Amino acid sequence: AQKIVVKNPVVDLDGDEMTRIIWQRIKDQLILPYLDIDIKYYDLGMENRDKTDDRVTLEAAEAIKKYKVGIKCATITPDTARVKEFNLKQKWKSPNGTIRNVLNGTVFREPIFIDNVPRLIPAWKKPIIIARHAFGDQYKSTDFEVDGPGKYEVSFTPAGASEPSMRKTVHDFAGPGVGLGMFNTSESITAFAHACFRMAIDRKMPLYLGTKSTVISTYDAYWDKIFLALYEAEYKSEFESLGIWYEHRLVDDMVAQLIKMEGGLILALGNMLGDIISDLVAQGCGSLALMSSVLVAKGDQPGEFIYESEAAHGTVTRHFRQHQQGKPTSTNPVASIYAWTRGLIHRAQLDHTPELEAFAQNLEAACIAAVKGGTMTKDLAISIHGNKAAPETYVTTDEYIAEVARRLAALQAA
Ligand code: NAD
Repeated sequence: AQKIVVKNPVVDLDGDEMTRIIWQRIKDQLILPYLDIDIKYYDLGMENRDKTDDRVTLEAAEAIKKYKVGIKCATITPDTARVKEFNLKQKWKSPNGTIRNVLNGTVFREPIFIDNVPRLIPAWKKPIIIARHAFGDQYKSTDFEVDGPGKYEVSFTPAGASEPSMRKTVHDFAGPGVGLGMFNTSESITAFAHACFRMAIDRKMPLYLGTKSTVISTYDAYWDKIFLALYEAEYKSEFESLGIWYEHRLVDDMVAQLIKMEGGLILALGNMLGDIISDLVAQGCGSLALMSSVLVAKGDQPGEFIYESEAAHGTVTRHFRQHQQGKPTSTNPVASIYAWTRGLIHRAQLDHTPELEAFAQNLEAACIAAVKGGTMTKDLAISIHGNKAAPETYVTTDEYIAEVARRLAALQAA
């Protein structure tokens, strides 16, 4: 059959360990046989990041900015042990952090639901996507201890002025205690809001913003003010035509509902709540190997968005050690495959190539159908059959990918 022509390039960010092994197989067996695609390849493997003094990560981020689609393999974030293992020149920063800083985007984590894989929260039937505003608040705050009685004040001095325009008493301390001052910016919240509205449109799901604006009536309400203004001005009509909506909710109500509802929504949260609730949702969904992640950032042109997709899990070091000993592993490649499909879907939407989008959807369907048909890796067999899952209930990584390839071929031929 003729290959599907992908009109514009995608940026491929290679990674480390077991996921690097899987990455190559995905490209060789599931992507390249079907697509005529210009892949801009950047090797973010630990050795090459060290060799290039991490320039490769910055170059990859710039390439994603240029081509609008990045597809990333999991990478090692070096700690002291890794510095020794790889004899690194220094403890290089997390590539994900570096890329996020360049693109200034929002990370959306989305669980991949497969009917026969049980979830800790059985009510959940559709994905719950958490958007965390990973900028400012407690994570960039100034905090301190006070050791005795005294007054804690905050003030704001406008640029160019010599006197503060605002001064407020936070607390009159009668004895020792602690204090914290934090901030966020209109620019960052606006970019976050754009990414959330865009994601809601792409996934055709309603968007909820969770804050505690009843208690923190200026700070938290600021998010709703920005979201609502943007919604009314730029997104409402498109939302209405898709039958979706935007609503602000109190986060305590939202979390209570979340446990009972069947899902199918995007929940936008500030930095701290997003950190906590995204971990809670990830646990409730079950397997870390079934969590995909996409970074959405606004491009230079109005209405233009940049996507970087990846698996939410790491490089699966434990399995890689087995692989190094020549042993087959049963590592789940689904989230890595979804990194490709989600990136390709965005490419298809940017280029208006429905045949590419259909291909990516067939590839996702093949992954799910394989598991439903009983061909799965050990992590999923364990979640279905328990810790004593018999060896007949699971296959190796290679066998699973081969099954997905067979099903994909059938779907593409249909
Ligand atoms: P990990 O996600 O690789 O593994 C955590 C646990 O989940 C392990 O028990 C592992 O066996 C299991 N697991 C994860 N993915 C799986 C899969 N696809 N199939 C089967 N089991 C799976 O995290 P870790 O062990 O904490 O870290 C390993 C390396 O990955 C570290 O060097 C870390 O820096 C890196 N890391 C990278 C990213 C990223 O690139 N986004 C994220 C997390 C960790």
